[in-house]
Amino acid sequence: MVSTQAEQSNILLELEDVKKYFPIKGGFLKRNQGQVKAVESVSLQLHEAESLGVVGESGCGKSTLGRTILGLEELTDGKIRFRDKEIQALKGREKQKFVKEMQMIFQDPYASLNPKQRIGDALAEVFTIHTNMTAREKREAVIGLLQEVGLKEEHYERYPHEFSGGQRQRIGIARAIALNPSFIICDEAVSALDVSVQAQVLKLLKNLQEKYQLSYLFISHDLGVVRYFCDRVLVMYLGNTVELSTVEELFDKPLHPYTQALLSAIPRPSVHSKVKKVRLEGDLPNPANPPSGCVFHTRCPIARDICKKEKPEWKEYSAGHYSACHFAGESIV
Ligand code: SF4
Repeated sequence: MVSTQAEQSNILLELEDVKKYFPIKGGFLKRNQGQVKAVESVSLQLHEAESLGVVGESGCGKSTLGRTILGLEELTDGKIRFRDKEIQALKGREKQKFVKEMQMIFQDPYASLNPKQRIGDALAEVFTIHTNMTAREKREAVIGLLQEVGLKEEHYERYPHEFSGGQRQRIGIARAIALNPSFIICDEAVSALDVSVQAQVLKLLKNLQEKYQLSYLFISHDLGVVRYFCDRVLVMYLGNTVELSTVEELFDKPLHPYTQALLSAIPRPSVHSKVKKVRLEGDLPNPANPPSGCVFHTRCPIARDICKKEKPEWKEYSAGHYSACHFAGESIV
């Protein structure tokens, strides 16, 4: 993927041919019997203060991609560079610095909170681990964080069960921004929230982005939310990247049949909507045994012979608009 000099100057994160495979072990001796190709050759760049959406059905590899970037999963192959430095090569203080710069917001922050610990103490732990702050400084910093995410000082003393879903997600955000990161992975961060609460949390994330120049990798299955929140979108299918573009262009001129099918499935407010729904036949194939050629050929409404034999090349069709399809741009309806 080639980028202009101007674009290169503010690249925060760069992925080059990133792969993550999981071994399949079986038998009495737990021998390797194959591998699940959860992420296959992902290359992309994320700029400072940019929001990049990652979409696709569950099982497409989007969450594994996020976890691999953060080092929560070991990289199988490829390179991940953050501020021009290869993450795998970082050691000691440099690694510590990197850990502070990259954070994650999960779908269910409640799962990672100790029900018997006050929220203020849970947040203060971040400072205990990563700083030399005094108890008083930590308390002040936590109160500042609570206010930053729209909560109040009195919430310091409360326990996780005393918060609503939206408030818990605000706590998740507070924890993520505590160490002044520059990059946050939001993994289905608003999926479990009601629509009105969703909007408030998204607004908070946008405000924080503006204030601190944050970059987000926004993993979601909800294209409507991605359209509102993101600058660009990466579409994944069975561990493969199938399309990458600005939000406007992706919604206006989707090139890949899978993207077209995803877009057609977005609920429309009007019963007179002219957008025809395309129902994809069949289930997501087994990633341990992916289809030959184009991995989407078993479900693609316009698949032809070549699709079964040749893997389509990842090509740039217009400035910044990439796709991997032998018949990119052909309509599926
Ligand atoms: Fe469909 Fe063929 Fe394009 Fe794959 S390469 S998405 S099977 S048309």
